[in-house]
This record gives sequence, structure tokens and C-alpha cells, in this order.
Amino acid sequence: MSELRFNELRGEQVDYAIHRQERTFLPPPDHCPLCPTRPGGAPTEIPFPAFEIAVFDNRFPAFEAPLGAAEVVVYTDEHEGSLATLAPRRAEDLMWVWRHRYLELGAREDIDYVLIFENRGVEVGVTLHHPHGQIYGYPFLPPVPALELAADTRLDGCAPCALLRAELHDGRRVVYENEGVVAYIPFAARWAYEAHVTLRAHRASLLECEAAELRLLSSALQALVRGYDALFDRPFPYVMVVHQAPTKPAPGPAAARAGTAAAGHLHVEFYPPLRTADKLKYLAGSEQGGGTFISDTLPEESAVALREAIARGR
Ligand SMILES: [Zn+2]
Ligand SMILES: [Zn+2]
Ligand SMILES: [Zn+2]
Repeated sequence: MSELRFNELRGEQVDYAIHRQERTFLPPPDHCPLCPTRPGGAPTEIPFPAFEIAVFDNRFPAFEAPLGAAEVVVYTDEHEGSLATLAPRRAEDLMWVWRHRYLELGAREDIDYVLIFENRGVEVGVTLHHPHGQIYGYPFLPPVPALELAADTRLDGCAPCALLRAELHDGRRVVYENEGVVAYIPFAARWAYEAHVTLRAHRASLLECEAAELRLLSSALQALVRGYDALFDRPFPYVMVVHQAPTKPAPGPAAARAGTAAAGHLHVEFYPPLRTADKLKYLAGSEQGGGTFISDTLPEESAVALREAIARGR
């Protein structure tokens, strides 16, 4: 079992999941635990010879019942590829799988926040290359979503709605748009090629989206990742997280604000660690000790390059 300890000095939870040291680390492709179990082959995590999308409990969970959840979402039974190379229909299906997991995990008493995410590339610590993401069900409201709810309070309304309006008005950092979704590099991005993919309409979560919006969200995510891969002509590492409304009323400001303007607005954030084709951004003194990001590039300039790469990646 993992253990939560509260770090008083920073006012945050730290999760000790020491069994995770044993987890499978970059196995050869013929020992991939996320591939289907082929007839006559060694059993994998997925006991079927073929599948479309598979979800199962993480065998090395950071959180588990009765205090949260950790699940693995395998995008395809094909070992090679990425979110970008999935057939559009499969990417759209993935949105429905996310929505279903958000609904089911969010209904659990012990889960306050459902975080859907993907780590891609060894640069961000990936231990399995098979295209997959993860879902954590946190038994508390984590600090980053809590900050976003605080931004709603500070702006006296939905912060992602206000930021999207400002980005569309300015236009210089918008890198992709369709009828339902806009992708942009934020005005104050932390990472050189950070991008936020936001629903145009105010949707607290995937559950509030219409079917067409889920399809448009999947197209936007695929267009962005294809653009990332085209940017430096190499698989582009990133951390991708889906931010939505908490699934429990939280104590404090969030509860005070429940029933008012906003309590979350579905958007997907990408944090890519590359600042050039071969240089990584490291979190060092100022970022770790001061909590202040120092960036070598302006979001407006990165947006020009990313917009062109998305056009090339189509
Ligand atoms: Zn595999
Ligand atoms: Zn909104
Ligand atoms: Zn966010």
C-alpha cells in the first residue's frame, strides 16, 4: 500500500508508493506487458489476442482502493505508434473511454479528483513505449486543479473561458482551431512548446460534451501531437494532462464557489520538456527553489513554429 504524508512546509501531500521501484522498466518489444496475449505467447496484462482500447488497474499503483485509484489505458493493440497515429475513429473512441472512467471513478466515495494523463518519451520517465495513458483517482484535490479553481475565484468567473477569449482576441499564440476546440500556447507558458487544448463552450467535464465535441477534441489532440512530431522531425516527448471539474465538492474556496460561475472547464495541457530539437529544459534552482520558471523563448515565437509544424503534420 502507498502512504500519504503531508509536507507541512509546502502544504502539500507526498505519496510514497515504494512498490513502484519493482515496476517493469523498458522491456524489449517481445516482452511488452501492454501488447495483446498472442496464442502460444507469454501472457501479458491483457488476456486477449486482439483488442481496441483496454483499461485495467495499474499493477504498480500510486493510489488504490479504498484510497484512490490508478488505471492504465492502452490506446491500441499495436506496439508501435502514438496518440497521433491512431485511426481517427479510435482516437474518438478514446474520448468516450476517458468519459466513462471519469464518470465511474468520479462516482466513488474515496475519489475527489480524476486525472487523466499521458507521459510520452524517456525524457519524461516513460517505462513502456506501447501507446498508453494513465488515470489517477486522487483521494484529495491536488494542488494544480486547486490553483485553477482559485483562478476562477480571482477572475470572478471561469478562468479557462476568460483566457480562451483573450487568446482568440490576441490570436498570436493560437496554433490550431476547429469548430469546437482551440489549441494555443498560453500567454505565460512555462514550457517553450506548452499547449492548452480548450473546449470553446464551457464544459465542466467530458460528461457535458456533445458527441461532436468529443470528436473535435480528439481531432485537435491528434493534430497537435502530429505537429509536435513534425516540429523537430522526431517523436516529441510530453506530459499531457486532462483538467476537468473535481468529482467531489472540495472544502474551502472551491465549495464556497460551487454553484457559481465555474467549477472547472475541460481542457488538455501539454508540457513538452524540449526547448530545441536536442535540448531539454531542466527544472533547476529558480523553478524548484523559487517556484519561478525561467524561459529562453517567447510563447509568440514558439507559436509561429508550432503552427507551421501542425500545418506540415496534417
Ligand atoms: Zn506493446
Ligand atoms: Zn469555462
Ligand atoms: Zn489546466
